[in-house]
Amino acid sequence: MQPLEIGVVFWTGGELGVDASPAEIVQSVQSLGVKCGQLAVHGTAPLDPAPWKDAVDAAGIEVVTCFMGYEGESYASIPECARTVGYVPAATRQERGERALLVSDFAKGLGVPGIAAHIGCVPSDRSHPDYVGVRDLMRKICDRCGENGQTFALETGQEPAEELLEFLHDVGRDNLKINFDPANMILYGSGEPLDALEVVKDYVITVHCKDGTRPKAPGEWGAETPLGQGDVGMDRFIAKLKEIGYQGPLIIEREIVGDAQREDILGAVALLERLRG
Ligand code: MG
Repeated sequence: MQPLEIGVVFWTGGELGVDASPAEIVQSVQSLGVKCGQLAVHGTAPLDPAPWKDAVDAAGIEVVTCFMGYEGESYASIPECARTVGYVPAATRQERGERALLVSDFAKGLGVPGIAAHIGCVPSDRSHPDYVGVRDLMRKICDRCGENGQTFALETGQEPAEELLEFLHDVGRDNLKINFDPANMILYGSGEPLDALEVVKDYVITVHCKDGTRPKAPGEWGAETPLGQGDVGMDRFIAKLKEIGYQGPLIIEREIVGDAQREDILGAVALLERLRG
């Protein structure tokens, strides 16, 4: 894989998943003209690596990360996100954690060097039981990833970059990294993504190329847009990645389905090819 190789997030299972075989899904990725991607595995998706391994090998697609989503997660509003996403909800923390260990093993079977997830809206109070619970679970997941020769990447979301760094240091595992998504900060209305990238740059191993507009009122969501049409500033984002010496892939994430998704991704590939130089 070349530095700044263009790739896409593609789903199996869940609302963003396509009802098709691994071979068909991977062929549709290949038809976008990209050579790599992140396989997003919904909590309900079967975890048999064999058909995926055959499919990606046949298509020459390099899977750089297995991304995890979970049943019951909702991004309908910011409070819903805080209540349902990742490892923060105490009621599902253990079973989602167990699933993460299985996804790590699945990724190993596929020869994928890392897994990732949005771990949720971790409280900023370091003594909060949910903070402690998520921190301890992350240690356990990172240790399994370590045994499997993998990294674990935290998807960036609503949290200030300084808090994210503090959490990383608290977990204290060298294989804990960051999947930086500049659009999430815009969509949550939580700050300037490029300033945040500067703060966490030493930990970023993958990035999402996603775009969006800021919320109209505090506490609301912004709106995701096709790449280049939102408030991220893709030219500035790519320039910043070059400035910090980022060598990883540019993973396009477009969280809609159907023909519009395909069209937007093709547009994003063209835009990134131009900006990457
Ligand atoms: Mg993302």
